[in-house]
Amino acid sequence: MKSIYGKLILGFLVSILISFSFAGYFVLKNNSEELSEFTRVELQDATRLILNQMTYVEDSQVGQVLTNISESLNVAILVSHDDSEIVYGQFKKPDKLDEAISNLKEKKEGYIDMRNSFFQTVGTHFEIDGTQYTLFVQKNISQQENIFKHSALLAVGFIFIVGSVVFLIIADIIVKPITRLTRATQELAKGNYKVSVNYVGNDEIGRLNKSFNLMAQQLGKTEQTRQQFISDVSHEFQTPLTSINGFATILKNEDLPPEQREKYTDIILFESRRLSQLSKNMLQLTLLDGEDITLNVENYSLTEQLYRVISSLEEFAKQKDIEIDVNIPKKDIMISGDQNRLEQVWINLLNNAIKYTNEGGYISVNLKRNSKDVEVMISDTGIGMDEEAQRHIFERFYREDKARSVGGNGLGLAIVKSIVDLHFGTIKVKSQKDVGSEFYVNLPYERNNTLKEVFKSYRKEG
Ligand code: ADP
Repeated sequence: MKSIYGKLILGFLVSILISFSFAGYFVLKNNSEELSEFTRVELQDATRLILNQMTYVEDSQVGQVLTNISESLNVAILVSHDDSEIVYGQFKKPDKLDEAISNLKEKKEGYIDMRNSFFQTVGTHFEIDGTQYTLFVQKNISQQENIFKHSALLAVGFIFIVGSVVFLIIADIIVKPITRLTRATQELAKGNYKVSVNYVGNDEIGRLNKSFNLMAQQLGKTEQTRQQFISDVSHEFQTPLTSINGFATILKNEDLPPEQREKYTDIILFESRRLSQLSKNMLQLTLLDGEDITLNVENYSLTEQLYRVISSLEEFAKQKDIEIDVNIPKKDIMISGDQNRLEQVWINLLNNAIKYTNEGGYISVNLKRNSKDVEVMISDTGIGMDEEAQRHIFERFYREDKARSVGGNGLGLAIVKSIVDLHFGTIKVKSQKDVGSEFYVNLPYERNNTLKEVFKSYRKEG
């Protein structure tokens, strides 16, 4: 039985069979007992009537009277002597007549009640002119029992047919959407992420279909992102490789003047460093995205960290004649977080500020402590960005204008965002084209281990 449909039908048939068998047995038994009780009372009344009549009528008329009573009450009558000789009989001498008579004798008065599958018989003892007689009155109850059996059978048949039709319709209503969903799942497995199932209703199957549609949509989006990512990666690798390939070919020319040789070698070095940085960034992003990333959370001085980062990039700023203004409170501001990864955040932001600020520009690094978080703001008087760019800069491989790119690969801010997210922080940008940009990073301030526990539970919840 492979299909749900088959299983439902089998289940229905088995339950119907079991319930009807039990119900039938008890209903028939009950009916038979009630019928028996009813007939017994009826036969005892008939017996009393016969005895009553026999007291008044002449001996010669007894036969006729008994026949009349038998016809009008629809019962059979048998009168016998105590020695079991039949005096009047409308039914054949019963096999156990002797036993019945001796039972009656023992009882002296009252009735005995006999019953087999067709007949019910009541017997009683009486005496006329000193002679002992027994009177048996019998009724055929099989007819009445059969009428009930037939009616019951008819009702069962009717219930079965109507029930089966209704059940088949319901089974169809249940099974059809499941079949549709199975087909859609097979389509999805083949890679058709546009597949969706239509189902109205908010029952279990409706909700399952809704979840399926959502899952297909999400898978479609993931697939799209994956394809976009592969195309971005190949493009990012292809450009420097083409450049390296081209200049290396030129360098093979032995007659090349030394200045040109120097220039082309520098380009090759620049591009290969770019490639190396690109693969490092990609690796870092993959690690940050991974399920099993572990943050090495510790309580440390953010003040010291920012000073360290500024001094490591001071030389780069000096080369462009850029002044860095530092607004950091004297008193150490402590924070719980992964020191190495947060250092990467400040390096990327400050590096960008220097990269995208023209010579003689101005950068400021600000740190302040709010009631619930710490805020680091890095501003510059650089090239700035329009609103469209501000919406996308945290996406992988996004660069506002690839032509004016200064050696980046569009992964720096994506890494920054991932690290800030992992610390339950936020990052915002305010910028104006040709005026400058401000990057705000807010990190929740937690005492010592609290954040550690938050990280642990966050990881566990996945
Ligand atoms: P990249 O390696 O290209 O710098 P990022 O992810 O760090 O990659 O930055 C993405 C893009 O955001 C940059 O290409 C640039 O267009 C824009 N951007 C980032 N920081 C600044 C800034 N301080 N001023 C102007 N534009 C910026």
